[in-house]
Amino acid sequence: MPTYTYRCPDCGQSFNLFHSISDSSEKLCPTCGTPAQRQMGGGSGISMSGSGSGSSGLSSIPSAPRGGFS
Ligand SMILES: [Zn+2]
Repeated sequence: MPTYTYRCPDCGQSFNLFHSISDSSEKLCPTCGTPAQRQMGGGSGISMSGSGSGSSGLSSIPSAPRGGFS
């Protein structure tokens, strides 16, 4: 299954979803719950200049240790 990139038209949050190509149901923004718009994957040369604030493809996944303290 392909990975799709969605972008929230309200808050500008972009996120990736991994689902079937036949799944055309509405995907909600994880931040504000607004129905997001699916972005067309360009493949190479993605330049999103001036598209609001936001990290340029950097996904900072917090890896906080849980339950490691004793
Ligand atoms: Zn949003």
